[in-house]
Amino acid sequence: MLPVGVIGVGHLGSLHAKMFADIPSAKLIGVFDIDSSRAKNVAAENGVTAFGSMDELLQSVEAVTIATPTATHFDVAAKALERGIHLFIEKPITATVAQAEQLVRKAGEKRLTIQVGHIERFNPAILALEHYHINPMFIESHRLAQFNPRGTDVAVVLDLMIHDIDIILSLVNSPVEKIEANGIPVVSETTDIANARLQFANGCVANVTASRISQKKMRKMRLFQRDAYISIDFSEGLAEVFRLVDANEQSSTPTMMLGELELGARKRKIIYEQPAVKETNALRYELELFVDAVSSGGAAVVSGQDGMRALSVAHEIMEKINQQKIVL
Ligand code: NAD
Repeated sequence: MLPVGVIGVGHLGSLHAKMFADIPSAKLIGVFDIDSSRAKNVAAENGVTAFGSMDELLQSVEAVTIATPTATHFDVAAKALERGIHLFIEKPITATVAQAEQLVRKAGEKRLTIQVGHIERFNPAILALEHYHINPMFIESHRLAQFNPRGTDVAVVLDLMIHDIDIILSLVNSPVEKIEANGIPVVSETTDIANARLQFANGCVANVTASRISQKKMRKMRLFQRDAYISIDFSEGLAEVFRLVDANEQSSTPTMMLGELELGARKRKIIYEQPAVKETNALRYELELFVDAVSSGGAAVVSGQDGMRALSVAHEIMEKINQQKIVL
């Protein structure tokens, strides 16, 4: 069992502690938080130690989750890497790309694992698509949330859009070539609603919208590619696939025929599939994979480099937004 700890046990860190306590391949040793009463409560709930300092916790474990506010990720992570500790860092990896680069370099030198908490990679709707050939040429995504003062210290790009940026970067096998973006602060002092257009070297374009001032919640992504349209609903954990196939093709998954299409001599049918979704607790699953990666010395599913790439695109989007000429 891998001895693990959690640093920062607020909203998300307390869930990490609970999950680690329940994962058979990990042993939750204890937690640390600068708010000692919070640390004591979470430690008591899980029957583990509330350490009085970060150093004491780091001496007792081999891996930690860092779920402190993003502005503190770098300092906490750098200290833990110095002590030879593997890291699961909540998203976004750090506040700046330069900080992420330093952490990734340090972890590489010390042969330590960094996994980043881009949890949507483990959404059942995304996992359900693993047997499909995904090669989108146009992507439309909407992540809309109702207003909540939590998280408004950073632009909606870093808070919400970064989830979709990471997913899109993992789906499109090509570098980003050009970024255009717009966004405005409506309620808070930072950008509350933003739209970005990412253009990839292979011609794919992603049109990404994120808002935290919506009346209704929506987390959807639509992928368009040759002969297929794929719709992903992150809130419902549902994937739907519409494909054009040869008229006599047999499918191994349950399909519904929606119609036929005859173009020249080629006769094809339009089919609808709902790939089977496995009930998955995404947080538990990403932590299990982190423990496996550390224990086996294998690669993290969402690596420090992945976290750095998503952050770098998010920062470029924010720069474009800051360059807009807006008369308020
Ligand atoms: P929170 O404010 O609820 O909790 C943060 C905790 O960290 C607090 O208990 C605070 O006392 C403690 N803390 C602050 N500085 C510390 C330090 N130097 N050492 C130890 N403890 C310290 O915040 P949260 O909502 O749980 O967010 C934490 C992180 O998780 C952020 O980076 C955030 O972006 C990320 N997050 C990710 C997701 C996701 O979907 N993956 C969702 C929400 C938050």
